[in-house]
Amino acid sequence: MLMTELIAKKRDGGVLTDEEIRFMIDGYTRGEIPDYQMSAMLMAMFFRGLEHAETVAMTMAMMRSGDTVDLSAVSGVKADKHSTGGVGDKTSLVLCPMMAACGVKMAKMSGRGLGHTGGTIDKLESIPGFSCDMTPEHFFENVENIGFSIASQTAEIDPADKKLYALRDVTGTVAVRGLIVSSIMSKKLAAGADIIVLDVKCGSGSFMKTEADARLLAQEMVDVGNAAGRRTAALITDMDEPLGRAVGNALEVKEAIAALKGEFRGDLTELCLTIGINILLLGGMAAGADEASAALQRVIDDGSALRKLREFIRAQGGDERVVDDPSLLPGAPVQLPVTAEQDGYVNHMNAEGIGLVSLHLGGGRATKESVIDPAVGVVLEKKVGDAVRRGDPLAVIHAADLPSAQRAAEELRACYTINAQAPEAVPFIKGVIR
Ligand code: URA
Repeated sequence: MLMTELIAKKRDGGVLTDEEIRFMIDGYTRGEIPDYQMSAMLMAMFFRGLEHAETVAMTMAMMRSGDTVDLSAVSGVKADKHSTGGVGDKTSLVLCPMMAACGVKMAKMSGRGLGHTGGTIDKLESIPGFSCDMTPEHFFENVENIGFSIASQTAEIDPADKKLYALRDVTGTVAVRGLIVSSIMSKKLAAGADIIVLDVKCGSGSFMKTEADARLLAQEMVDVGNAAGRRTAALITDMDEPLGRAVGNALEVKEAIAALKGEFRGDLTELCLTIGINILLLGGMAAGADEASAALQRVIDDGSALRKLREFIRAQGGDERVVDDPSLLPGAPVQLPVTAEQDGYVNHMNAEGIGLVSLHLGGGRATKESVIDPAVGVVLEKKVGDAVRRGDPLAVIHAADLPSAQRAAEELRACYTINAQAPEAVPFIKGVIR
């Protein structure tokens, strides 16, 4: 088999067979197929699209390109969730303790973030002493005993995706449905959970700009997951503003703790409850959505989700006292309010721009070598739909020094669009596909 023939076949609208796709993925992972040929194939896929059978074959070949996690030794229902990305997304920090308190196991291997704010691990490592580096034995022991663990990825999971995603990123071929589906689902299948709930974002700041495209993507991921024998569901959620109010590592941990204490209800809580309801339903642990919702609310009200968070922090070497006293988390020396310059309603927020404000403050990584400042970021006081008066604080910048706070304040103000008319209310969760 020759890669040149496969490129020509795809270019001319042909459908690649399972065998051809395996040859291509295996050869590319081993370095036998060069980047220039794979780039040509990706561009052919961009214009021709992938048939569902090709997407399934890509997913399975990529999943098998490296290690897979075997969770068979962990008892009970094992679930995983994935989000297609978002600014201020601290869902795992809230959801995992809630699910553990409901008796669901979650074994999460996460990466460090590049760009915007940090990834889940960076957020957690803002807790003094906390570490995500542990042996596989310790990781599985924590999942079994506490109900969840979050570790930095040590096993070589899905090396095909690492190479392919990097190549797609620099060849203008990220936005291909079949490639997004296979990239995400190959990693999720390799991670070993039997229940997978996906959060597919749609809107200006995400891959899928329209709800219709997001639905097609969600449906195909659900189909691929179910075909691989995993119970899979997907939510379609709006991503026209950051999730919750905090953007920045320690600030997001503080917000997650407050959410687990039931101190507020907003999009973050709504998202965690909806993912949680779907996990409980897929796991056969509730007869209906109302029963599942009540179970999740109970673990917040009775403090058991918060106890799970404490146990998790202690087991991974962190100072669990942050749960009762979040002031023990790193704090920024400068806190500068950003005020509105006119009366009106917040019509739009540039979520990506707000992520960049946090990055410029030092809360994210510009390169792999960058060192994150865990204390800096932004806390949003106003979100889309809120009424504002001139002089009201829109947000508070948390910065290492005054000049960087002042620069961030200008950038942040430009992320808000304030008009005289209130915007039309749109639901945050647009649908669930099971
Ligand atoms: N996230 C992924 O992991 N892969 C994609 O292709 C897009 C988003």
